[in-house]
Amino acid sequence: MDYLATKYLRPRKTPSTACSGCGLGQVHKKLLKAVDELGLELDDVVWGTGIGCAGRQTFATWKGDNYAGTHGRVYALSAGLRIALPQDKRIICTVGDGDAFGIGLLNLLHCARRNVYMTVVVADNLGYMSTGGQYGWTTPLGVKTDSSPYGTFEPNFMQEGQDVMNLLKGAGATFLARHTSLQGQEVVESMKKAVMNKGFSLVHVIYPCVTNFSDRALGTRKPLAMYNWIKSRTYNLNDKVPEGEMTFRTGIYWDASNTRQEFSDKLFEYTKEQQRRAR
Ligand code: SF4
Repeated sequence: MDYLATKYLRPRKTPSTACSGCGLGQVHKKLLKAVDELGLELDDVVWGTGIGCAGRQTFATWKGDNYAGTHGRVYALSAGLRIALPQDKRIICTVGDGDAFGIGLLNLLHCARRNVYMTVVVADNLGYMSTGGQYGWTTPLGVKTDSSPYGTFEPNFMQEGQDVMNLLKGAGATFLARHTSLQGQEVVESMKKAVMNKGFSLVHVIYPCVTNFSDRALGTRKPLAMYNWIKSRTYNLNDKVPEGEMTFRTGIYWDASNTRQEFSDKLFEYTKEQQRRAR
């Protein structure tokens, strides 16, 4: 078995229950590689997760301590854990796009506002795929899904001027990056930077869902068709993109790592000060 799989996955949970050809494993493998390359041991990390395809692949599947907060609640739980856990313990959440940018968005924004020391990896299959393939918050304009048989018409959170990255930056996040699972070491490097930021970090990774997204949007479940569809729309942030075309712009959106005091640090400092004054 693969070195990372042996080191990080519980044997009774392998092979994965994800559909054959799904790109989710590419996202998770990159995160485990980042953790491994940083020299972190399982005891140094606590894994949090939410619901959907992304959630069920990590909860009680990865070795070490796990917790789950379904339907967008994992961020609030993480803020609480941040206070309870030793300050050098990494909190890493692996969640999906519906969890992070839909039902959990408010909780997510407040973690960014507080600059809670946690890393959120959003594995994005471009809609609600674990429930059969409905459109969601990042489904590109015009794409056919189960709930948009004539193509989506609503603005989405990756659109120019309405990017969720801008929302998170405005809320106070200190590290933000976007990639696709088809990219290589650059994704691992962004994840390493995210984990090393003592503050709120988020890495958004778009990945291919061959079973539901590809079936409705492209009319095929052939992995190669879906992989090429994503690849042909992927550009670096500095690249000139074709006008009017739907693209995935990748790179580091915002890096203010370690420039702003982290939430639990601030809380402990404040509490100490109040105790000193009360004496
Ligand atoms: S439904 Fe899509 S995203 Fe979910 S496991 Fe299957 S291929 Fe992957």
